[in-house]
Amino acid sequence: MSDVGFQEVTIATPDDWHVHLRDDTMLRAVVPFTANLFRYALVMPNLSQPITTTASAAAYRERIIEAAGQDASAEFTPLMALYLNDSVSIADLSAGFSDGVVHAVKYYPAGATTNSEAGGSSLISYGPILSQIADLGIPLLVHAESTDPSVDIFDRERVFLENELAPVCEQLPTLKVTVEHVSTTDGVVFVREHSNVTGTITPHHLSCERSDILANGLRPDLYCKPVLNSKENRQTLIEAATSGEPSFFLGTDSAPHPLSSKRSAVGKAGIFSAPLALPVLAEVFAERGALDRLEAFTSTNGARYHGFEPSVYRVRLRRLDDRSEVFDEMLRTNDGYEVQMFGVEAARKWSLELLQGSRLDA
Ligand SMILES: [Zn+2]
Repeated sequence: MSDVGFQEVTIATPDDWHVHLRDDTMLRAVVPFTANLFRYALVMPNLSQPITTTASAAAYRERIIEAAGQDASAEFTPLMALYLNDSVSIADLSAGFSDGVVHAVKYYPAGATTNSEAGGSSLISYGPILSQIADLGIPLLVHAESTDPSVDIFDRERVFLENELAPVCEQLPTLKVTVEHVSTTDGVVFVREHSNVTGTITPHHLSCERSDILANGLRPDLYCKPVLNSKENRQTLIEAATSGEPSFFLGTDSAPHPLSSKRSAVGKAGIFSAPLALPVLAEVFAERGALDRLEAFTSTNGARYHGFEPSVYRVRLRRLDDRSEVFDEMLRTNDGYEVQMFGVEAARKWSLELLQGSRLDA
């Protein structure tokens, strides 16, 4: 096939298996992008008051649906996760799961990232509750980064996987685990070596590497956790994402922060990657000649893992060299904050069309 033939692709509506929608005015500013473009959105529970009960998850889901309003496609469905810490009760979790309110449980090592202070200091210490999570078949989502200050920032994923997650997977071989935002070759290998373990990969870890943060002036907009790693690690991520293997799928880890928090003396980690995730991914897959496997990554693999059929709706992406559309990369919230979008360069090259009844105008 010619190159031109690879510059257009139609995929089932994507799902986002890891997204931060925040709350209040930030929620209202960012959720339309997700609600219009994605079908399922697995929403992270790390609000400033973490979501640790079924009741708080249900209330948060209501706020999300209300904030999405008429920007939401007919299919948009937020899926909720509980934040694992000592205040989670197995009775409440299992009731919430069987009622369909709670879809997953998220583990944050305390201090690893935004609003993770209420997280755990040791994954294995949650053995009793993890064992019941395994029995119930609830997916465990893991922010896999060691918070040991003696561990180098670029090694934190590997150390967590070796020291914390491997023993848990060994003790509980039926536990369904997703290593979130896989950022290294070690993460890819870990997923491949464990049959009940999957991995999400972000658009920014596929399209950028650590030199992009540091080599041509400091780029706080590219700072996230886990931090972007080396070129070699990125190449492994690209290879995994474009392989079509069912264990790897999209989680944008879209994590909006006000510009003032990103560009401060101590900048916050997080990249607002959901709105332009598809053009970024299309560019990565096209460069590798793998556009025909984009749908597996964005729309099929994650759905199947989480027990759903892929969407019947479609999105068409076309690469247009002479596209001159100008994007405003700043989103403005109602209370006056700016949030920088990731992926504007790729979005200038790709047009995106929602097919078969999905709304086009949000
Ligand atoms: Zn995240």
